[in-house]
Amino acid sequence: MVSEHYFSGHSLMIGRFQPLHNGHMEVIRKCAAESESLIIGIGSAQYSHECDNPFTAGERYLMIDEVMKAEKIANYCIVPIEDLKRHSLWAWQVKSLCPPFTTVYSNNPLTRRLFGEAGYKIKESPLYNREVYSGTVVRKMMIEGDSWRSLVPGKVAEIIDYIDGVSRLREISGGE
Ligand code: ATP
Ligand code: MG
Repeated sequence: MVSEHYFSGHSLMIGRFQPLHNGHMEVIRKCAAESESLIIGIGSAQYSHECDNPFTAGERYLMIDEVMKAEKIANYCIVPIEDLKRHSLWAWQVKSLCPPFTTVYSNNPLTRRLFGEAGYKIKESPLYNREVYSGTVVRKMMIEGDSWRSLVPGKVAEIIDYIDGVSRLREISGGE
């Protein structure tokens, strides 16, 4: 039966996933295993074709969805979320776009603060191998022609090849 209790095991994790990398997946696997259902929020959904945000929300959605299917994780949903640029309203914006949840996984102090003030339970999500499992590092490697593929799930590399993502990133970054 749907009641407040019904949603108590439902959690949220937010990233920009530019692109989805192995560090994100470590956290997603852990959170999905601990939760009845995990909402994966795609932050800064309105941005694409920028150096820090090369991929569209749809492309990022596809990356996450394909990897979750490949890993046979079924208890998740994906929600693209545009930036609001008003911190005091951010948690309410997320709430309005997502199915009900009670817990937020984050290691970002601002995210923890904002969702804590809005009444959500906050859980720590550890960082894995952060020196290389980082969107910034993956994008830098793509631009410089370094071997980025080992830092992302296989399906993500396939999708980036399919959309010609490395050429896009190099062009919009002016080759720098
Ligand atoms: P960027 O460098 O583009 O900001 P990012 O690697 O920081 O990328 P985001 O897409 O910004 O990743 O997502 C941020 C969230 O993803 C973090 O709050 C954290 O929960 C999770 N995350 C990112 N990298 C890791 C990692 N190496 N291990 C665990 N979680 C990670
Ligand atoms: Mg980040």
